[in-house]
Amino acid sequence: MSTLKGKSAIVTGSTSGIGLGIAKALAGQGVNIMLNGFGDAGEIENIRKEITAMGVGAVYSAANMEKPDEIRAMAADAAKAFGRVDILVPNAGVQFVSPIEDFPEEKFESIIRIDLMSGWYASKAVFKGMKDAKWGRIVSIVSAHGLVASPFKSAYVSAKHGMLGMMKTLALEGATFGVTANAICPGYVHTPLVDKQIPDTMKARNMTRDQVINDVILAAQPTKQFVTVEQVASLVLYLCSDNAAQINGAALSIDGGWTAQ
Ligand code: NAD
Repeated sequence: MSTLKGKSAIVTGSTSGIGLGIAKALAGQGVNIMLNGFGDAGEIENIRKEITAMGVGAVYSAANMEKPDEIRAMAADAAKAFGRVDILVPNAGVQFVSPIEDFPEEKFESIIRIDLMSGWYASKAVFKGMKDAKWGRIVSIVSAHGLVASPFKSAYVSAKHGMLGMMKTLALEGATFGVTANAICPGYVHTPLVDKQIPDTMKARNMTRDQVINDVILAAQPTKQFVTVEQVASLVLYLCSDNAAQINGAALSIDGGWTAQ
């Protein structure tokens, strides 16, 4: 029997891409899921039903990760639905690309709220429960941009570097309570977010789809292959397992060698 069976997880930003893959992978191990994120109500309900069909509980919170009150309510709803929250995956994230001199200030602050601050508010809301239960896992989906920079991504890179510091700190605070906090740093993952950028880049650079993928998106990724959602999700499952109990405060790269350069 799986050691995760019967546990409960909040996965922020789980209506799409990496978060959705993580939610399904955890559900496959018998973990009850609090879904969160934006999207079409009917599609989100279909995701919820698909997850309950895996034999676990699934509830949905529309909490906006820019709003601390809504984040607190999401955590309270998860605890009410499942009794407690054992696993938190701060995953919701957005990107905006601009030279700093033109970077809209409201965009900068919004990215800091979603990609950095929401992880802090969500962790704050679940941490005491994890310590009391003497078991907990916080697995943040950060980025290679938590470790290295690229030009024009000053907000995203700031937020992602900040998440690494936050995970290290929570790792120390939870260490004697069976609560670990770690960061996963993926390179490029082929999600709807990345896919949407391909046609525009093809036009802007007069390139074919393959050229955009190999020479632009995967330029820094030595394997010249995307990381898959399933590969990220399986690393989350590993970090949640008892075998990973001594991995704490780590930044785990899954980037085809990007940050080895
Ligand atoms: P995605 O756009 O497919 O999914 C993002 C999710 O976040 C969606 O569910 C969306 O509704 C949700 N979201 C956005 N703003 C929100 C808000 N204010 N409140 C609540 N939910 C909100 O993106 P993805 O590629 O799956 O990215 C997920 C995470 O992985 C992000 O943190 C991203 O930075 C990180 N990441 C992605 C890649 C990649 O190449 N795709 C690489 C490294 C890290």
